[in-house]
Amino acid sequence: MNDLPNHPSLDPDDWDAFRARAHRMLDAAIDQMAQARDGRVWTAAPENIKTLTPPPTKGDAAKSDAQMKALLPYGVGNTHPRFFGWVHGSGTPSNIIAEMVAAAMNANLGGRDHGAIYIEKQVVDWCKSIFGFPDTASGLVVSGTSIATLIALKTARDRMTDFAARKAGGTAGLVGYTSTQTHSCVARTFDMLGLGSDALRKIPVNAAFEIDTEALQAAITADRAAGLTPFAIIGTAGAVNVGAIDDLAALADIAASENLWFHVDGAFGATAILSDKIKPRLAGLTRADSIAFDFHKWLHVNYDAGFILIRDADAHRRAFSERPDYLAPAARGLAAGNPWPTEYGPELSRGFRALKIWAQLMEHGTEKLGQLITQNCDQAQYLAGLVNDDPAFELCAPVALNICCFRYTALATDLSRLNAEIVIQLQLEGVAAPSTTVLSGDTVIRVNITNHRTTYADLDILLAATRKIGAQLVQERKFATA
Ligand SMILES: *Cc1c(COP(=O)(O)O)cnc(C)c1O
Repeated sequence: MNDLPNHPSLDPDDWDAFRARAHRMLDAAIDQMAQARDGRVWTAAPENIKTLTPPPTKGDAAKSDAQMKALLPYGVGNTHPRFFGWVHGSGTPSNIIAEMVAAAMNANLGGRDHGAIYIEKQVVDWCKSIFGFPDTASGLVVSGTSIATLIALKTARDRMTDFAARKAGGTAGLVGYTSTQTHSCVARTFDMLGLGSDALRKIPVNAAFEIDTEALQAAITADRAAGLTPFAIIGTAGAVNVGAIDDLAALADIAASENLWFHVDGAFGATAILSDKIKPRLAGLTRADSIAFDFHKWLHVNYDAGFILIRDADAHRRAFSERPDYLAPAARGLAAGNPWPTEYGPELSRGFRALKIWAQLMEHGTEKLGQLITQNCDQAQYLAGLVNDDPAFELCAPVALNICCFRYTALATDLSRLNAEIVIQLQLEGVAAPSTTVLSGDTVIRVNITNHRTTYADLDILLAATRKIGAQLVQERKFATA
């Protein structure tokens, strides 16, 4: 059978025109990054972007490009030096290049034997080296710490039940332990694994927001006495509220003596192992059975890029491996390259996230990335100093890492509502974007610095704007005055 004269495909008719068009869009993308320091932090998307339209039946490349270009300014704002909300990485211009190369290869990293697979293997090997894990450990690039946590704790659950839970279920009685400061993804994992979030015991924290290890030991003992089966301790390196680092060495000791899986949520904090200043405080991390962390936070890989590192590669594989006939391994040819990444996680088709991670490390190196982490921690201390020196403010938690929680207190009561409103005003004015959290029942301003573009001057600007907005709100008598 003959092909149609103008064989229809999705390739351009005119490659020169496509090249020119792609170059224009690349320029627009680079302009966006080059201007990351300028202008507003966040701007709400205009109505025309929010408006939904029917699916296009006839395509239009020019219209598509124009609308993508118009979209560029309406991001979260995390590429701006005064983005301080939640825990967002700030991205790099050079990751645009890696994303472009990855798109050109359009590789599926579920498995098979091809170049991209070896880049991910290199990334896995680098992670073992960075965290002092043995060569026999395993790892997988994932979308983020939430999924990494799911993979780690499924492996822990399955190992505890000698992998019977994979088929027979029967996880009743399994319990795990973490602190009240732990990220919600851990409880959600217990829910998703069928353990139920009540099976996650939330142990109280000390004044530094670190898990109370005596209370932990007591809870394990009490659960065993009640006939339950403890299986995991989840520590945090860099808790989301105030950046606290649990006593990881103490947790590793308890896990060893109780024969429990020791998992560390190190979403952003674990990567501080690259900072000479912070590294000593992460002793114990290298003793974990698994570490979940993100490249898209403090290592600034463009969204999304997370990682799960597991000491017991065999358990990891046994918790996920399924090789039906149509995915059978081969010793040679395209089905070689075993084991495949899909044997280490829930996904079969997987994109080439590994490339942007690899490129970030190749271009910038661990030393510089570590120095930038140190810089952010120093900046958080600087901000705490400014807050302490200013009678209009109150520091609400010790600065453990890169997060400074404080509130505006001058002449006002109803401080929770006032400080929540200050944060909204800062965001709406486009001057800075912190977020809020609740400490001891009070809503406070939470400034997280995982941002390689932030300067000390940016923190001066933040505090001046906060003081001005606070004073204005009090003056307008929208809040009760003291
Ligand atoms: C961000 C974060 C998570 C969740 O990670 P995602 O990459 O958003 O899935 C978990 N734990 C901590 C401490 C975090 O900061």
